[in-house]
Amino acid sequence: MEKKNTEAEIRPLLRENIRNIVPYSTARDDCKVRMDIYLDANENPYESGVNRYPSPHQPRLKQMLSVLKKVPEKNIFLGNGSDEPIDLIFRLFCPPGKSSMVQAVPTYGMYSVAAAINDVRVIDSPLADGFRLDADALLSAVEPDTKVIFLCSPNNPSGNLLDRDAIIRILDSFGGITVVDEAYIDFAGSESFIGMLERYPRLIVLQTLSKAWGMAGLRIGMAIADEYVADVMSRVKYPYNISILNQRKAEELLSDPVGAADRTAVIIGERERMAEELSGLPQVEKVWPSDANFLLVRFRDKDRAFDDLMRAGIIVRDRSSAYGCEGCLRITVGTPDENASVLEVLGAAGRDASGNVPGTSCGIGAREGTSGRTASCLRKTGETSVCVRLDLDRFRAPRVATGLNFFNHMLEQIGYHAGIALDVFCFGDIATDDHHSVEDVAIALGDCLSSALGNKSGIGRYGFSLPMDEAEATVLIDLGGRIDFQWDVVFRSERIGDMSSQMFGHFFKSLAEHLKCNLHIRAAGTNDHHVIEGVFKAFARALKTAVGRCSGSDTVPSSKGIIE
Ligand code: PMP
Repeated sequence: MEKKNTEAEIRPLLRENIRNIVPYSTARDDCKVRMDIYLDANENPYESGVNRYPSPHQPRLKQMLSVLKKVPEKNIFLGNGSDEPIDLIFRLFCPPGKSSMVQAVPTYGMYSVAAAINDVRVIDSPLADGFRLDADALLSAVEPDTKVIFLCSPNNPSGNLLDRDAIIRILDSFGGITVVDEAYIDFAGSESFIGMLERYPRLIVLQTLSKAWGMAGLRIGMAIADEYVADVMSRVKYPYNISILNQRKAEELLSDPVGAADRTAVIIGERERMAEELSGLPQVEKVWPSDANFLLVRFRDKDRAFDDLMRAGIIVRDRSSAYGCEGCLRITVGTPDENASVLEVLGAAGRDASGNVPGTSCGIGAREGTSGRTASCLRKTGETSVCVRLDLDRFRAPRVATGLNFFNHMLEQIGYHAGIALDVFCFGDIATDDHHSVEDVAIALGDCLSSALGNKSGIGRYGFSLPMDEAEATVLIDLGGRIDFQWDVVFRSERIGDMSSQMFGHFFKSLAEHLKCNLHIRAAGTNDHHVIEGVFKAFARALKTAVGRCSGSDTVPSSKGIIE
């Protein structure tokens, strides 16, 4: 890039206090020569791989990025994700309480959050139909105190590239700073605005290693800007904003651009396939064309789609509250297998001839997969939100999180000792007490077990267990369909771990009611922890026997021929 005196153009745009800021100078900055012994920075001298401060200027990383982006190193500022330069732009150019920024909505939420933190007024300028950028409309939203315009291209959450000529028109007309956030540019078949920097020194292009480069965990983002802007950003940032480990890992991963490009190509191919297949689903109203690694999808009933996906263990982003995105979910393009799962869940839901998505009315979804006996349940009340998934014919280490450590530990026993795949997540009002969480998990688990068992053909039906551990715990179970619950367990203390002891009886009672079974539990011992752990393990063993398939039998284990 040819050297120009851009300082004269940009300096007046800076906040007054920033114009002459003297940056914190690190000892290594002052001494450019490599020395043998470093006693300048109060570090610990003993080598651990991370006992020294990282380079504040990240020269190696910038050198690699300079090659990849075809831009001189001095035009690159590196931050802790691109969220850092977003914040810095406000700190550099926007006097708090006295300035505004304009953004084209719907758009990435961090612009307005960072503006609010910096006490900068946010002016929303809506994108036109099809999320098209109308330069005149946006420019008419600019007010005398507007210092910065934020444009995101490809835009999050709509996914589309903004019109290049419209951006250029804004660059030609607006006297402040224009930011073009290109976080998703590598997924778009379009040229970056980096090439326009020479012509427009008031342009700042944001990019990130979090998306196409697959390094979101490293938190490295870039502002590619006029040399003077990049320099002022460096003076204002925290001195050591990117850790040694993150710099090293990024250098390692950047050295394989071909691998990254291959993965990007797969994602782009999958995006197109997903867009086409999703468009064909009856419950999908619209899929917007995307130049990014996600799709904005409008559903006829987005809550239903969200819950179906959630029950299958798939989380997507509800963007329905964003401008112009009513009824929309934003779905990131995953691996081909992950995408197939999304289509399977949404497709299966759409195929239900009754119009009922399996499980949404009662909160249960049973899926006949290859193993057949799987079920999932999403149960939401004003007090809890519980998600349970299980597979009676496959073991996988349980994944349990309820906010109650002891309860987690007990539920894991069910997964391990029943030899089933079990996931239980509960977000409940445990700040009040454990009652609702324990009860609602029991209900959801009981419903799920019952649903996974289907018509119960081939099962052992009965289960019993012998004393386990030092405590004596006996659990008898009959999955016959009638409910009877007996609880003969006495605890010495009112609490075990972070739970109240009386909730265990309540847990099994609710479970029995929803699993529709006879459940008789007896246990005794001197140590409450062992007693209840024995109960959970014995229950798991009893369950394993009862749900286990009798080899060669596919009949219902009842002389009546049905179990209800
Ligand atoms: N810009 C846009 C448009 C984004 O969507 C995101 C993250 N989702 C970012 C910037 C921030 O990226 P990071 O901080 O990970 O670099």
